[in-house]
Amino acid sequence: MRRTTEEVTTMYDVIVVGAGPAGLNAALVSGRQRRRVLLLDSGRPRNAPAAQMHMFLSRDGFPPAELRRIGREQLATYPNVEVREATVTAAAQAARGFTVTQADGVRESARALVLATGQVDVLDDQVEGLSALFGRGVYHCPFCHGWETTGMSLAVLGHELPQVMQALYLADRFSGDVVVCTNGHPVPEQAAGKLAAAGIAVEEAAVARIEGEEGAVQLVLADGRVIERQAVYHRAPTRQHSPLAEQLGCRILPDGCVRVDEFQRTSVPGVYAAGDTARLEALPDALTFVITGAADGARAAVWLDQELFRADAGLGG
Ligand SMILES: Cc1cc2nc3c(=O)[nH]c(=O)nc-3n(C[C@H](O)[C@H](O)[C@H](O)COP(=O)(O)OP(=O)(O)OC[C@H]3O[C@@H](n4cnc5c(N)ncnc54)[C@H](O)[C@@H]3O)c2cc1C
Repeated sequence: MRRTTEEVTTMYDVIVVGAGPAGLNAALVSGRQRRRVLLLDSGRPRNAPAAQMHMFLSRDGFPPAELRRIGREQLATYPNVEVREATVTAAAQAARGFTVTQADGVRESARALVLATGQVDVLDDQVEGLSALFGRGVYHCPFCHGWETTGMSLAVLGHELPQVMQALYLADRFSGDVVVCTNGHPVPEQAAGKLAAAGIAVEEAAVARIEGEEGAVQLVLADGRVIERQAVYHRAPTRQHSPLAEQLGCRILPDGCVRVDEFQRTSVPGVYAAGDTARLEALPDALTFVITGAADGARAAVWLDQELFRADAGLGG
């Protein structure tokens, strides 16, 4: 029976927030260890615009929505795992464990939390059409999409060092026809020579809008010229999809990722984080892939299961 607002009746072993690959796998591994699991999800995974996903053993080219559907279908065979469509708006430590509050006011409690809420790509509103083509002609990552854009005419939208590096990388691996569109900005001085040496053109005019479709994208410049490309790369800044880690007081790294250790533990005991949302401090960048998210979720579930078991056995947390 559905619980009413503010009423807390069940103590779950673990509440997992987010049902992307990280959260689904955390729920699966926890459920198989007979843990009482609640998985809450707001239904907005990062790769929603993509028709295919890559770099996942045995699932290369598979629709990501299908992966999530199968993940949920398999979870449904575990009666101790409950999956619920809900946005979690608040999380807090309680006298015993943690409470989370859903947008509809329902509160739930658990001994441990797994935050698997992912990241959001912050697309530049100033370039009209960017969001509409993101994942379908405008791509963020050569690891995810590089192979499919081999030999194509490419543009990289942006002027800062990460985008310059991306252009150099694309020219090195995938295409001899790359142009950097800086949208009205100069490229960093030290980069200009490197781009020229790699045969990469630089277009500094402002970009008014991006239009077209997968395989045929037009960058319409403010001066009226149109640059025709088969694909555009744009490495957008990212932000946390949820404020939950911050609310709980978890340590956040300068790039906005939740800091975790090798066990996926955050700085708050009992709170684990997995997938795009988190990274090891030693890594220069978050490893934001489907398979690594799923692996993080498994790691979090295994170690939190062991932590709870040790505590129950009186062998220390
Ligand atoms: C266009 C595109 C294409 C990509 N292609 C590939 C690819 O080919 N291969 C690859 O390996 N990676 C790819 N990626 C990266 C991949 O999408 C991510 O690495 C992966 O989705 C991370 O999984 P996750 O479980 O951490 O987060 P997500 O998949 O983003 O899932 C997080 C879930 O948490 C939910 N959530 C967030 N906040 C709350 C809240 N407060 N309450 C409840 N639920 C919440 C969200 O709705 C979402 O369902 C791509 C990314 C993009 C943008």
